[in-house]
Amino acid sequence: MHATKLYDVAVVGAGAFGAWTALQLARRGKRVLLVDAYGPGHSRSSSGDESRIIRMGYGTDEIYTRWSQRSLVQWRELFAATGNEELYRKTGVLWLAEAENPQLRVTKDVLKRNGAEFEELDRDGIVARYPQINVDGIASGILELESGVLLARRAVAAVVAEAVRIGVEFKLIAIAEPHGNGEIESLSSTAIEGSAAQRFTAKTFVFACGAWLAKLFPEILGDRIFPTRQSVFYLGIPGGEVRFSFPALPTWLIKNDECYGMPDLESRGLKIALDKHGERVDPDTQSRMVTPEEIAEIRRYVAYRFPALANAPIVETRVCQYENTSNGDFLIDRHPTLSNVWFAGGGSGHGFKHGPAVGEYIAGQLLDGSEPEERFLFDKKKTIQHRTVY
Ligand SMILES: Cc1cc2nc3c(=O)[nH]c(=O)nc-3n(C[C@H](O)[C@H](O)[C@H](O)COP(=O)(O)OP(=O)(O)OC[C@H]3O[C@@H](n4cnc5c(N)ncnc54)[C@H](O)[C@@H]3O)c2cc1C
Repeated sequence: MHATKLYDVAVVGAGAFGAWTALQLARRGKRVLLVDAYGPGHSRSSSGDESRIIRMGYGTDEIYTRWSQRSLVQWRELFAATGNEELYRKTGVLWLAEAENPQLRVTKDVLKRNGAEFEELDRDGIVARYPQINVDGIASGILELESGVLLARRAVAAVVAEAVRIGVEFKLIAIAEPHGNGEIESLSSTAIEGSAAQRFTAKTFVFACGAWLAKLFPEILGDRIFPTRQSVFYLGIPGGEVRFSFPALPTWLIKNDECYGMPDLESRGLKIALDKHGERVDPDTQSRMVTPEEIAEIRRYVAYRFPALANAPIVETRVCQYENTSNGDFLIDRHPTLSNVWFAGGGSGHGFKHGPAVGEYIAGQLLDGSEPEERFLFDKKKTIQHRTVY
C-alpha cells in the first residue's frame, strides 16, 4: 500500500486567487497541491471571462492601489517569462464623472502619492479626445496611463502552467466541505456515484473558492459572501470603424452610470457591463443566458452613451457572478474554528487584478506570520451588504 502523499499546502480553487496562491507558495519552496472542480479559469468561475480591468484608482482605499501596482508588475513579469506578453493590453483606463466627483478627487491624490502616471481631463478635453462618447453629465476625467486589461481566463491558465512547471501538482477534484474544530488532516472529494472518494493530506488548506465559499461553508460564510448575477455584453463594431478600438478608445469606467467597458480587443467587439449587483445566484446552476430585460437595459444605455453603436449587434454575452463581501473588502483569514484552514476570497467584482498580491499576502501569513490587514479578517465581515470599496 502507498503511503499518502503529504503536501505543505493544498489550495482549493484555481481561479485568479488560488492559482496565484499556489504559484507564490511554490516559489517559496513549498510542496503544493492545487485542485479545482471544473478547471482553471472555467466558464462558471469569476475568473473565466475573456478580460478583466487592471486599474490603480481606488478612491481612499489605498491598499488596493498599492496591491494593483505591485500585481501589474508581477503579471507582466510572468507573461514576459512565459512568452505570453499579449495577455496584458496597456489600453489606459479612463475614469469619467461629474464635476468635483469626490472619488475622482481623492483618487488623483492617491495616484500622485503612489507614483501612478495619469492625465487629468476636463469636459472640453474629453469631448475633443473621445467624440464617440456622449458626455451628458460628465465634466471630469482621469486617464491612468499604465493600466489596462488582463486577458483573464488565458492569464489564469498561464499562472497554473507556470505553477505546475515549478512543481505544483494540479488535480481536477471537487472537494467536500470540511468539518470540525482544531485541525484537519485531509480533505475528500465529493462523492460521485460509482467512484471512490479521493483523499489527500496537507498541513494547511487554503480555500480560494470564489462564490462557492458560501456553499462550501454555509454556516459561517452563507450570509457573509453574497454571490450576485452579473451580465456582460460584446457589441459588434461597424465594419471599418476604428473609434471603438485602442488607441481611439481606452478602457473606461463612468462613475455616474455604474458602468464600465473596454475597447474592441481581439476583434470581439466593445465590451460593456453594468457594475450594479444583480440577484443572488448559485454559481453551479445559475442560467448563463442573458435575459430580454438585461438586453433592453444595455441597449438603452449604449444608445445613450455610444450613439454610433445604437444598432450594433450583440455578438457575444457572458453571465458571471461577483463574490461580494458586505463592503467589497477581500476575505483573507483563518477559518474561525479550524486553525489550519484559510479562506482567500471575496473578490467582490474587483479582485482579479490582485491575484499576485493576494498570493504573496497569503504566503506571508502562512510562512512568515506577517501582521494581518484588519480589513481582510473574518471578524470584519458583516451579514448585511453595504458596498464601500469600488
Ligand atoms: C462580470 C465580472 C466583471 C469583473 N470585472 C473585474 C475587473 O474588471 N477587474 C478585476 O480585477 N476584477 C473583476 N471582477 C472580479 C474578479 O473576476 C473576481 O474577483 C476574481 O476572478 C475572483 O477570483 P477567485 O479565484 O476568487 O474566484 P473564481 O475565479 O470563481 O475561482 C474559484 C474556483 O474555485 C473552484 N471551486 C469552488 N468550489 C470548489 C470545490 N468544492 N472543489 C474544488 N474547486 C472548487 C471553482 O471551480 C473556481 O474555479 C469581475 C467579476 C465579474 C463576474
